Amino acid sequence: MADYYELLGVQKSATPDELKSAFRKMALKYHPDRNPNDATAEAKFKEINEAYSVLSDPDRRAYYDRMGRAPGGSPGTPGGPDVNFEDLFQDLMGDFLGGIGGFGGIGGRRRQGGRDIQVELSISLEDAAKGAEKIIEFDRPAPCDQCQGRGADVGSPVDPCPACQGRGEVRFQQGFFRLSRPCGRCAGKGTIPRVPCAKCSGTGIATRTEKLSVTLPAGIEDGTTRTVAGYGEAPANGAPSGDLQITVKIAEHPLFKRQESDLHCTIPVSFPQAVLGAQLDVPTLDGRVRMRIPAGTQPGHALRLRGKGMPRFGGYGRGDQIVTIQLEVPTEITAEQRALVEQLAATMGEDTHPQRRTFLEKLKGLFD
Ligand SMILES: [Zn+2]
Ligand SMILES: [Zn+2]
Repeated sequence: MADYYELLGVQKSATPDELKSAFRKMALKYHPDRNPNDATAEAKFKEINEAYSVLSDPDRRAYYDRMGRAPGGSPGTPGGPDVNFEDLFQDLMGDFLGGIGGFGGIGGRRRQGGRDIQVELSISLEDAAKGAEKIIEFDRPAPCDQCQGRGADVGSPVDPCPACQGRGEVRFQQGFFRLSRPCGRCAGKGTIPRVPCAKCSGTGIATRTEKLSVTLPAGIEDGTTRTVAGYGEAPANGAPSGDLQITVKIAEHPLFKRQESDLHCTIPVSFPQAVLGAQLDVPTLDGRVRMRIPAGTQPGHALRLRGKGMPRFGGYGRGDQIVTIQLEVPTEITAEQRALVEQLAATMGEDTHPQRRTFLEKLKGLFD
């Protein structure tokens, strides 16, 4: 496996923006549309995507820097982002065309890219354990389909914005510096529709609900963020779309608490079970498991079910399930049961409770 930084042609110290720009350049170069029937280009394209999917996520990048390999998933099934190559391609072509003239040949106008969109994806612990394919729905601002982002009603012309003379930005002086900011009147587009489009009120932007399928690798951790390049806000001016950032939230489970790759649960047992030992039905993520607790099991005692925990995210195998024994003392008993317990108590003393004996001896030492 080639070094991810080398694949993208960046330094190890590359900033997220440098990574993104390098990724877009490389993705365009090896895009299957540009290299039809070229298996080498296709393989390279996949590698680039995998590299970017790891390096664009701060946690996964840190892991890669530390371990020299990608976290999660097995080789050949990278849990990378679903990149819409159509969009990517158009973004890049847009960048290219925007560089020559564009918008009435006004040079030096910076093209504002779309903002990133953040969404939260809530999944169950079971999904996190097994890995899952989820459809997410999110609202995405994109060029209005009725006016193709022009903001003008069908047949209506657009005029250069009078506030910025079509530049899309207004310049102002601050101290020694000449600065500019996007024009508020035309929202940076440089044009004003004569008759505004009814659907988007002339903004050129309409928000629509998008659906996207995301693959979550087995063992994914709460709070993990995935970046799907090019699925953020799509500006009306044809500038590159932002990214979609999906943060995974794992819902609380009624029985299990996760601690890295281990799962913890508590099982209540009765006094006779703890004294005599018992066979318990213990729930695990794989279904019920019979577990024997030995005679004389103490409350708070923890038993380990090896390999019944979560898959190790960015590692191999699974963690353990740790079962903590809780002693349940009955609060309501029948007269008959009470008589039996009293009978039992009469036969029990310090001989049957060595811990209590030790405790009483310590007390004596303190107060005598
Ligand atoms: Zn303007
Ligand atoms: Zn419109």
